[in-house]
Amino acid sequence: MTKPPLTLYLAAPRGFCAGVDRAIKIVEMALEKWGAPVYVRHEIVHNKYVVDALRDQGAVFVEELDECPDDRPVIFSAHGVPKAVPAAAAKREMVYVDATCPLVSKVHIEAERHHANGLQMVMIGHAGHPETVGTMGQLPEGEVILVETSEDVATIAPRDPEKLAFITQTTLSVDDTADVVAALQTRFPAIIGPHKEDICYATTNRQEAVKAMATKTNAMLVIGAPNSSNSRRLVEVGAKAGCTYAQLVQRAADIDWRALDGIDSIGITAGASAPEVLINEVIDAFKARYKVTEEVVETAVENVEFKVPRVLREPA
Ligand code: SF4
Repeated sequence: MTKPPLTLYLAAPRGFCAGVDRAIKIVEMALEKWGAPVYVRHEIVHNKYVVDALRDQGAVFVEELDECPDDRPVIFSAHGVPKAVPAAAAKREMVYVDATCPLVSKVHIEAERHHANGLQMVMIGHAGHPETVGTMGQLPEGEVILVETSEDVATIAPRDPEKLAFITQTTLSVDDTADVVAALQTRFPAIIGPHKEDICYATTNRQEAVKAMATKTNAMLVIGAPNSSNSRRLVEVGAKAGCTYAQLVQRAADIDWRALDGIDSIGITAGASAPEVLINEVIDAFKARYKVTEEVVETAVENVEFKVPRVLREPA
């Protein structure tokens, strides 16, 4: 049977960002340095494939620090942790390594600086996401007010509307966040914001590539985990940019081929925590069914790299 033709647009950049790359390296280097088991508080990055591979090498994933023994190293995930977590580890004299992405740490520092200057913070983010929990946990209770949408802005009651600053989660939709920032600035004209928004380069670049792909095709698959904020935003951005079919898949087995019946093109991208091996698996699945012509849609070139903490660069 002859295969139907399909143009497969591949977003660039896609997949791993520098923060995810560093976090995975930290776990691997910790295992090398201290041997197994090494404990990891929360999924190091939101991807089951990555977590399973590290588990096979001897990493033990837990949700809370009190699940870790005192005498084994523990690593904090790329999303960041409330201040109370490293403080508790230090109190127990545990060896810990913080894999918080430096771009998340930058937001933590921003929040602390504003707090020191007497400002109350508004955080634009998703309730319950570990990054939001970690960032809000940098300041005392009540010092960070969370808003998720423009509608939320109307309901908040800050201590002093003249003394406010805002920060954002790093993995939000650039366009939706601009609406929330505009609502904040309208209601609180004195509010101070970051020079450049806190949404990171990787999130921004992946969303731009998706928008460019959406001008070429109506169908899009985003490879990523359901709990990955930046991956879910890519699906929303694709749909908003005109893709009538935009779906999240964790890997090739999740593709709904019936829904794709009759297509002659598709866009493929991946969230910042999805490894290239899963992207290749999806591409191969298309190649098995279609006569594929690949076209890369490149909107940016990334060359960001973050160093691992010094403790891992030093001999044991
Ligand atoms: S998505 Fe952005 S903030 Fe999150 S780990 Fe990657 S580079 Fe860091």
